[in-house]
Amino acid sequence: MTDKTLFTRIIDREIPAAIVYEDELCIAFKDLNPQAPLHVLVVPVKPLPRLSDATATDEPLLGHLLGVAARVARDAGYGEAFRLAINNGAGAGQTVFHLHVHVLAGRPFNWPPG
Ligand code: 5GP
Repeated sequence: MTDKTLFTRIIDREIPAAIVYEDELCIAFKDLNPQAPLHVLVVPVKPLPRLSDATATDEPLLGHLLGVAARVARDAGYGEAFRLAINNGAGAGQTVFHLHVHVLAGRPFNWPPG
């Protein structure tokens, strides 16, 4: 039994994932169930459960996650059109309680989102 989150287990290489970027603060890997031709999750090493659990101390980290998200989209050839999403809480569709930014690109996106 482990109290690590699923995404910490990916960071620790206990579960395989297609990693596209990694640094000391975060990791980015392909979503197992992609909803667009590009669907990458940008995940902080720090296992914040939700965005709403972040504090002022975490603000540089949150900015870094957005910068990495844009970089991932750009490196995949989608720098001009991509969608970022953060589901905060089960009521908003969050299923993995380790903060992550969805990076989606490569198809049209509706607004408002579903
Ligand atoms: P959420 O619903 O919490 O916003 O997003 C969780 C995401 O994690 C989903 O898009 C889901 O497909 C993805 N996911 C769940 N388990 C795994 C896994 O083991 N590996 C990878 N790469 N993605 C996963």
